[in-house]
Amino acid sequence: MKKTTKIILCVLAAVLLIGGVVGGYVGYNLTYHPSKWMAEGDDALPEMEFEKALGELTMLSNTWEEALPQTEIYNLIKDHFNAPLPEGKTAKKAIVIGYDGCRVDTLRLLPTSKRSAINHLLEQGGQGVFSYCGGVMFPEENIQKTSTAPGWCSMLIGAWANEIGVDNNGQPKPLEPKTLLLSLVEDGTIGKSAFYVSWDGHFSKKDATYINEKNYAKENGVDATFLRAFFDAGTKRNILADIKRENCSDFIFLTLEYTDHQGHNSGFGPQNVRYVSAFRDAEAAGMDIIEAIEARKTFAAEDWLILITTDHGGNGGGHGGPSFEERMTFIFSNKAILK
Ligand SMILES: [Zn+2]
Repeated sequence: MKKTTKIILCVLAAVLLIGGVVGGYVGYNLTYHPSKWMAEGDDALPEMEFEKALGELTMLSNTWEEALPQTEIYNLIKDHFNAPLPEGKTAKKAIVIGYDGCRVDTLRLLPTSKRSAINHLLEQGGQGVFSYCGGVMFPEENIQKTSTAPGWCSMLIGAWANEIGVDNNGQPKPLEPKTLLLSLVEDGTIGKSAFYVSWDGHFSKKDATYINEKNYAKENGVDATFLRAFFDAGTKRNILADIKRENCSDFIFLTLEYTDHQGHNSGFGPQNVRYVSAFRDAEAAGMDIIEAIEARKTFAAEDWLILITTDHGGNGGGHGGPSFEERMTFIFSNKAILK
C-alpha cells in the first residue's frame, strides 16, 4: 500500500472514531426519552416564583418557615428503633429512600403522579414536612454547602458539617462520628445494615465520603454492606435482592441519582420537562422498593419506618450555594413526623 493511502486511511479512521465518540456524547445529551411513568398530558410546570410554589405544597404538614433541619432524619430512625415493639410485631426495620437533588417544588407534580412512592406513603396515613439543608440558623447563616456529602452525612449522623468534618464532596469523613450504618450495628440495636448507591463519591474511591467506614466495617467484621452499582437500575436491583431475602437488612439507606443527574444536565426544577421525567423515574423506583417491602412474607409481623427525602435542592444547573431553592428539602414518612 502506498504511504499516502495509509495516511489517508489513518486520518479517516481517526475522524470516524472521534466523530463517533463526540457524536454519541452529544446525541446522548440531546436526545430526550421521557420516563414511561409520565402521566397523561404530563409536562413541565409553568415557571412560578419559588416562595409562591412552596405555598402550593399543601400535602406537607408544616410551612416552609417551620421547616425541620434535615438532621431530624437521624432522630426519626433512632426513635423508631428505640421505641418498644408495637403489639403483634416481632421485628423492627427502617429504610431511607434518597432522591438525590430533588427540588422541593417538584412536589407540585404529585397530584398527577401515575406511580408515586410519596403518594403511597401519604395514602397509608403517613406525613410529609418541609426540611432544610445547609446548616443552622436558617435562613440567615449558611455553615455548610448544599452538596451531596454534607447533606446525607448530616442525616446519617444527626449533626452539621462543623461537628462531622465533611463540608463538601471529595473529603473522606473521619471514622468518628460514625453513621447509623455502623453505630446501630455496633451498639447491638440491629443485626445488619446496608448502603446502596450508584454514585462513586459515597464509598468507591480514595477520597469518597464513607471510605473509612467501609474499610472499618470490613476489617472489624461489622455487618454493614456497602454496595455500588453503575446506574440507578442496578441500585434498585441490589435493594430488591436484599429485601427479598427472608433475613433482610434491618436498616437500609440508598440514594437514587435520577433527579440530581438530570438537574446538572439540563436544570433543576419542575419547569424542566427532563427533570419532571427524572422525578417520575425516581418515584416509580421508590414504589417498586416499597412494594417489595410490603410483599415480604413476614411483613405483617414487622414494624417498618419508611422515609423518603433529598439531600439538597438546586438552582439553574447546580447546587452547593445558600439559595432558597438549594436549601429547602422535604421528608416523607409512613408514620407521623411532627409530634
Ligand atoms: Zn446530592
